[in-house]
Amino acid sequence: MALNSKFLQKKGFSLLITALFDVLLIACVVLLMQHTQKLLNSDASLSLTEITKQNREVIVNHINLELSKQQLSARALANHLTDNRSDAFEMNIALMALLGTMRNDIFVASLDGTAYVGNNEHSFDISGRRYFRLAKLGKSNISDKLIDQTSGEEVFVISVPIYFQGKIAGTLQKTYRPEQLYAIVVPPLFATKGRSYIVTHSGKIVLASLEQKNVTGTNLFDTLTVLDDETSSLAQIRQDLHEGKSGLFRSVDSSGRTYFSAYEQIKNAHDWYLVTSIASDAIAPHSGEIILLFYIILFALCLIFGVTIYYAVNIKQREQEELERQVFHDPVTGGLTFNKMIADLPKIVGANPDGPWYLLAFDIDRFRYINSSYGFEYGNIILREVSQAILTRLGPKDVLTRLWGDYFAILLCKKNPEKDSSLMAPVKSSHDVTLTLTGGLYKIQSPEENVRDAYDKASLAGNQIKKDIHATLKLYDEELNQSLIKNESMKLRIQKAIENRELLPFFQPKVDINSGKLVGAEALARWRTPEGELISPADFIPICESSGLVVEVDMLIYEKVLYFIKEYGGSNANPVPISINFSRRHLENPHFVKNLLLKLDEFHISANLVELELTESLFYDNQKDIITLVNNLSNVGLKVSMDDFGTGYSSLSMLKDVHVDVLKIDQSFLQQSDQLNKRDIIFTSIVEMAKKLNIDIVVEGVETEENVALMRNCHCDVAQGFYFSRPLAPEIFRKIYARGYV
Ligand code: C2E
Ligand code: MG
Ligand code: MG
Repeated sequence: MALNSKFLQKKGFSLLITALFDVLLIACVVLLMQHTQKLLNSDASLSLTEITKQNREVIVNHINLELSKQQLSARALANHLTDNRSDAFEMNIALMALLGTMRNDIFVASLDGTAYVGNNEHSFDISGRRYFRLAKLGKSNISDKLIDQTSGEEVFVISVPIYFQGKIAGTLQKTYRPEQLYAIVVPPLFATKGRSYIVTHSGKIVLASLEQKNVTGTNLFDTLTVLDDETSSLAQIRQDLHEGKSGLFRSVDSSGRTYFSAYEQIKNAHDWYLVTSIASDAIAPHSGEIILLFYIILFALCLIFGVTIYYAVNIKQREQEELERQVFHDPVTGGLTFNKMIADLPKIVGANPDGPWYLLAFDIDRFRYINSSYGFEYGNIILREVSQAILTRLGPKDVLTRLWGDYFAILLCKKNPEKDSSLMAPVKSSHDVTLTLTGGLYKIQSPEENVRDAYDKASLAGNQIKKDIHATLKLYDEELNQSLIKNESMKLRIQKAIENRELLPFFQPKVDINSGKLVGAEALARWRTPEGELISPADFIPICESSGLVVEVDMLIYEKVLYFIKEYGGSNANPVPISINFSRRHLENPHFVKNLLLKLDEFHISANLVELELTESLFYDNQKDIITLVNNLSNVGLKVSMDDFGTGYSSLSMLKDVHVDVLKIDQSFLQQSDQLNKRDIIFTSIVEMAKKLNIDIVVEGVETEENVALMRNCHCDVAQGFYFSRPLAPEIFRKIYARGYV
């Protein structure tokens, strides 16, 4: 659960990173696109300005051309004037007659502003017209849009002075309909995509293309919306138009289409401006596609990135799930492993701290025996069946896990569980084997409690009642706590003692019962304190065993034994081997054998002068490792004794798989006195079998004459026990060692 939540956190984190990256990517592409758009726009603006300028020139030229044409006509008319010409009216008649054609769009006016049209049919007054006044002053010009006084149509008028003998004698006018003028002066632009307007400085449209005809007369800036940006604004345009400046702007029309426009002043025609507008898609017809392409690429990139992350996260999740399965799933019971409890306990207890919560550590009595007698496969079936049976006894909040072997741990939510005898009631297996259980309870104080420590305390409580067949469950209490504290301080003391090399070997002779000859000795650790107190191994070896200090103890004793052999073995023509006890903890060290040999070399001692005693139970607990170790030891010439034979669930079949040199029959074997006959038969057969397998026998704990007699009966020769000698201090034993007799 804890791993899972960590993983979900990680997953959430990577999704956040993906989202951030996507946002960053989108922001980058949008900026890039804006920049591209700007580049395209500025390119468009440049070309539009250029086009507008050229068009303005064309328009100016066209207007000038029209003016020139009219001036030529005026000059031609002036040729028909005479010095003593009659009055204006006559003059006009004459002029018009001289022209040969009667055109309604051309008329002359005398200096008083009387204009004559057609066949002198009617005259009208143009003296108030601006174009006339300008022409009268000698300025050829084009008028604003006017209403024709005769036709009532909208017209433009080009008016030029008529010179006679260096003086202005009248004016010549030609009228143009707007579309006429537009066709003459405004060049075609960008086919249908471009629009040109001629506007006044206030923005009023003077001339527009045919299709735009309806806008004529309106204000250009009412028909479109100028886009305010860093380069242009409506206020800026208005100011420019008043000051005769040129410029650029962007706008949108009512349909949302964007236009680029440029304005240039048409200099010789009032305050007219040429405004050229072109749709942005007409200037850069592919820009839209480019932008779209950008968006597609962006979308594809985000998609690829998202999918990649999604898959990466999912693969990780599967890996994580597989890892969790391996770590949390117990393949033997099909349930959970203790790791799951370590991971989940803080959360479970934290969610309901009042519980009350207990950690129940239990194991199956004599499981080692079941395993070695019936085989591992059956052992596994038992573990599964026990696990299933226990589950039926648990509540919904309780969690059952297995550490290894037959060691189980339960997280229990229950009041006074120590009073519930059903929890650890025997389990009947499918093969009709009744399995009894022993458990210890520890009350969990807080969610932060170290789970392993809690287990150790619970299992310590369980161990207290291991030998009591009537008890199945024991609560870790203050008394136990005190003994733990004592243990802890003892541990520190021993540590110091090891450092100060206060431990030393005592030697207990191994004797040939027939001759009384010394055939070997066992080194047994003693702790001699600086105060001279001698402490027995029973008081410190178990603590050293559980804390791992025993490894140092063994090596120290080994070293001191080697020293002893070196010191006192030399005077002996035939020194006997000395056996040293080695703990199971050495199995964990891959350099164990190498270290033993290094020490032998250091003291120049032959391997056949030492022997290793390994306790019987070790041979059942770690079969694979022990076979390898024993093979390695015999390969380098070191002998191995199986110590305490008969205390465990001695399986003689074990002896065919692993070759030991000596079998040390435990003293408890000798003491089973109620069925002496049976004991003697078993004893005799063990001795016979060992002899056949070429294994030596040493009987431990030989205390009585009766023990010796039994040995004799069975042709069992070597004894170790108080009957012959107690373990002796080195300074005493060295004499026996030298002598060769007890
Ligand atoms: P063990 O290896 O089985 O040693 C034999 C024990 O039986 C010794 O106890 C010895 O004093 C005792 N003994 C010998 N003869 C008799 C007898 O006739 N009657 C009775 N009642 N007892 C007898 P000790 O020295 O107290 O050692 C106890 C155990 O501590 C040893 O059992 C061994 O397992 C362990 N031990 C001792 N020294 C070391 C050591 O250096 N390293 C390790 N790992 N374990 C050690
Ligand atoms: Mg021993
Ligand atoms: Mg023993």
